[in-house]
Amino acid sequence: MRILVVEDEKKIADFVKRGLREEGYAVDVAHDGKEGYLLASANDYDVIILDLMLPQMDGVTVCKKLREAKVESPIIMLTAKDTVQDKVTGLDSGADDYMAKPFSFEELLARIRAALRKKEARGATRLQAADLIMDLINHKVTRGGREIELTAKEYALLEYLMRNAGTIITRTMISEHVWDIDFDTFTNVIDVYISYLRNKIDHGYKKKLIHTVRGRGYLLKA
Ligand code: CA
Repeated sequence: MRILVVEDEKKIADFVKRGLREEGYAVDVAHDGKEGYLLASANDYDVIILDLMLPQMDGVTVCKKLREAKVESPIIMLTAKDTVQDKVTGLDSGADDYMAKPFSFEELLARIRAALRKKEARGATRLQAADLIMDLINHKVTRGGREIELTAKEYALLEYLMRNAGTIITRTMISEHVWDIDFDTFTNVIDVYISYLRNKIDHGYKKKLIHTVRGRGYLLKA
């Protein structure tokens, strides 16, 4: 899951970025509205966190322009003012949710999860492929009832594969959704993480779930 944070207050941007990365999300940061708009229209973000008061272009304008450009990523608007008018303006411009500063990180995480669920429009709380189950609420993965310990990055990669089960996923798609903009696509990090996952998910099981599609990418299939 890749998230864009558009926030000019460096302290808040750094705090949110660090926290989200620890949770396994890929995070890009833009420090003004214009940069935010450009990044959001160039990349397919799973969630956008957008501050209302921004230099260059304010949050409402960014939001409106993105919706006009048919960017449909869920947008959570941040603002210093918790007034009804701000909320209405934000939601009217096409934002999906609204949070007043100061906010707790836990609440931000909960709202991101809600936005992701809304995006799927399925309200899924778990993903399943054969006997592999991912509990999206508690971040727990089991295979055949046995719990599997994953790092945040392994979890994020597996989640992306499971959400797209049955579809061939290219390395570019993985790098765009699981890693962030600083990711060097020429390294073999993705292959290394796939092999970590294979060791944990498939090793010792007769039925393999992660498949390599030569020259194209990877496929998770029950
Ligand atoms: Ca601001």
